[in-house]
Parts: sequence; structure tokens; C-alpha cells
Amino acid sequence: MDFELTEEQKALQKKAREFAINEVLPVARKYDESEEFPMPVINKAWEQDLLNSGIPKKYGGPGYGLLDACIIVEEISSACPGIATSIFDNNLGAEPIIIGGNEEQKTRILGELTNEFKLIAFATSEPTMGSDVAGMKCKAEKEGEDYILNGAKFWITNGGFADYITVFATVDPEQKHKGIAAFIVDTKTEGVRLGKHIPKLGQRASNTVAVTLKNVRVPEKNVLAKPGRGFVLAMQTFAHTRPAIGAFATGCARSAMEYAIDYANKREAFGRPISNFQAIQHKIADMYKDIEAARLLTHKAAWEADQGLDNNMSSAIAKAFASDVVMRVTTEAVQVYGGFGYLRTYPVEKLFRDAKLYQIYEGTSEIQRIVISRFALKGYKHAMPSVFKRDR
Ligand SMILES: Cc1cc2nc3c(=O)[nH]c(=O)nc-3n(C[C@H](O)[C@H](O)[C@H](O)COP(=O)(O)OP(=O)(O)OC[C@H]3O[C@@H](n4cnc5c(N)ncnc54)[C@H](O)[C@@H]3O)c2cc1C
Repeated sequence: MDFELTEEQKALQKKAREFAINEVLPVARKYDESEEFPMPVINKAWEQDLLNSGIPKKYGGPGYGLLDACIIVEEISSACPGIATSIFDNNLGAEPIIIGGNEEQKTRILGELTNEFKLIAFATSEPTMGSDVAGMKCKAEKEGEDYILNGAKFWITNGGFADYITVFATVDPEQKHKGIAAFIVDTKTEGVRLGKHIPKLGQRASNTVAVTLKNVRVPEKNVLAKPGRGFVLAMQTFAHTRPAIGAFATGCARSAMEYAIDYANKREAFGRPISNFQAIQHKIADMYKDIEAARLLTHKAAWEADQGLDNNMSSAIAKAFASDVVMRVTTEAVQVYGGFGYLRTYPVEKLFRDAKLYQIYEGTSEIQRIVISRFALKGYKHAMPSVFKRDR
């Protein structure tokens, strides 16, 4: 067992940290307030090979593993969770192609994403459905070898600026997961309408829109998964992207803790720094240990994926745990700041708002607990004999 990062990973962490400090941190507040899309920052991330981190070298990408991606996103998220979400969204959009695309699709689309600065989004969710992916209504009708898409997708990150969207749609809503297929949709295609940015509580630098599809023709070459295969592809994609959500949460929590430490050492009450009070020390200790645990679970889930192991459980654990940690840590960081924590004067207020999203997108905390409890109750093999099969 080895918990140490490799020399290459340490260099990658340094590069991502410098990018976060020099390019992201100085503009984080500005984009939060304006809710504009941080295109220049994302463009710079592309130039520095920090976008598309999961695209294999064969298709022009940096070929980083998922653990490498987690190292990158923890750093960028610690400067601005919203900008980190915008940067990582290309991984989410491209992952179904990396997992399920044929050779021609990979060469063409992944090659395009690495040769030119282009954005790709991901769309399963709809106005009436998010958690229940099998309940989607967006219709895909076969016409010859092509498909015609009709319906609406909602909450699509980077959707307003995307060149491509991997769209999941169903040939028959009655068939539930068996009817779901996946498509690569060029957003310039007739009938695709990208909505206006929807204002949010936090992560305001990330663009969130509705996408409507009206008689959108998808040529055969852009059919990514045939009906019945799309649902599995979406779940496989989430298993590969949920560890990154754990890393986002860890980065956001890490910064909130650092800001809390800075403030606790400086702010005085009753004639001494508040860091002298045991109540504050315990808050910092809890933050530190929880962040450490969140990072370890996240890295384990990413490592399992990199080893080609089934990381469905570990990614659910990492996402659920780290999302809860970041909520606790940012809440307590605001508390350490007292009244100033509630003002926009210090960054903990922003991180507190940004943190909430991790418990919601890419499968809510309740959905992760369904995955975990299903395994714990049915799949998990006990070490000890059953309590009902031994003398009590
Ligand atoms: C900012 C933002 C960006 C997003 N980006 C994208 C994107 O790029 N692409 C995309 O496809 N989607 C995206 N989403 C959608 C996101 O994945 C969904 O919001 C999420 O999956 C939850 O779905 P929902 O909002 O429909 O909630 P619902 O599914 O309606 O759930 C509402 C509540 O009920 C709970 N619940 C639902 N079912 C169960 C159950 N069986 N047991 C217990 N509790 C349950 C949920 O946990 C939640 O608390 C984004 C969302 C946000 C807010």
C-alpha cells in the first residue's frame, strides 16, 4: 500500500495549484457576482491541458487517470468551485464517448476537443426528472439509420456555450431504462435551442441552462449508445465522475478551513485570539480530520477506476461523504468568522453557498445512500457468522 503521490502527480498538483492561484482565485468573486461564464479562464485551462484531462493520448488528450483528475480539480475548486465545475464539465460530457464511443467517434470528437477549444456538455436531467434517470421523457425516434430527438433537458452545465452535448433520450418512456439511448448532438443542428443562464444560489460562475430539442436529426455516425445501452452508459459515466465531485468538495472544504484558521489566529475576543478557545480548536480539528477522510475516500474511488475495478460503491461513498463534509466545514467556517462570516467581505460566505451543490448534482446524497445501503444490506459479505446462526 502506498498513500504517497508519484513525482508526476506532485508536479501536476503544483501546476494545477499555480493555475488556481494565478488564474482562478483573482477572478472568483467577480464571476460569482456577475454570473458570467468564465470563458477566458476555461480557455487558459485548455491551453494548459487542464481541460479534457481524461481524454487518452491516442486522441490528443493528456491521458491523465481519474486520480490525476481529482488532484487537478481539488486545486481548482479550492480557488473557485464554480469555475472548477465549468472546467471539469468537459470530462463529464466526453466520458460517455471515452467509455462507449466507437473508434471513429473517439477519433473525430475527442480529437476535435483537444485540437480546438471546444466545450461538450452532458444531459440526462429534465424539468420533471433528475434522480430517476430511467424515467426520462425526451423522445428518440428512429428514422432510417438516423434518430429524431424531441424534448427538453434541464440544468445543463455549460449548455449555453457547448459545441456538443451528449444527450440521453428514450425510444419509449414505458420501457424505462431499457428504452434509453445516447447521442452526440452538435448544438449547431437545426432544432437545438440553448436557453438563457438560470441564476443560482452558488457556483454562479458555472453556466446552467435548459436545452430544448425540436425535431433534431442525429445522424447514424453520432449514435453513441443504442436503446437499452444508454442507461448503463450513464451509470458508468457517473461512476467515473463522482470521485471528481468528492475532489471538488474536498478542495472547497480545504479553502474554507484555511480561511477559518487565518481568521481564528487573528481575531481577538475577551483579550486573546479566538484560536485560544477550545470550542474553536475543536471546530478546526473536526474540519481537518473530515477533509483528510474525504480526500482518502475520493482517491480510493478514483484509484479503483484507474485499476479498471468496479468503483460504483466507492464512488457513491466518496461523493456522499465529501459532500456532507463540505457542508459541515463551510457552515463551521462561517461560524468561526461570526458576523463577518455572514457578509460578502470574506470568501467563506461564497464557499458556503457553493458547497450545497455537491449534495445535489450527479446523484443526490439520498441516491448515493440508496446505492450504499443496497450493497450493505444485500451484497456485503459478513466477516462474522450471522447472529441468527450462533448461540447467543
Ligand atoms: C447547478 C446544477 C447543475 C447541474 N448540471 C447537470 C448537467 O450538466 N447535466 C444533467 O443531466 N443534470 C444536471 N443537473 C441535474 C442534477 O443532476 C439533478 O438536479 C439531480 O440529479 C436531482 O434531480 P432533481 O433536481 O430532479 O431532484 P428530484 O429527483 O426531484 O429529487 C428531489 C428530492 O427527492 C429526493 N429523492 C428522489 N428520489 C428519491 C428516492 N428514491 N429516495 C429518496 N429520496 C429521493 C432527492 O434526493 C431530492 O432530495 C444539475 C443540477 C444543478 C442544480
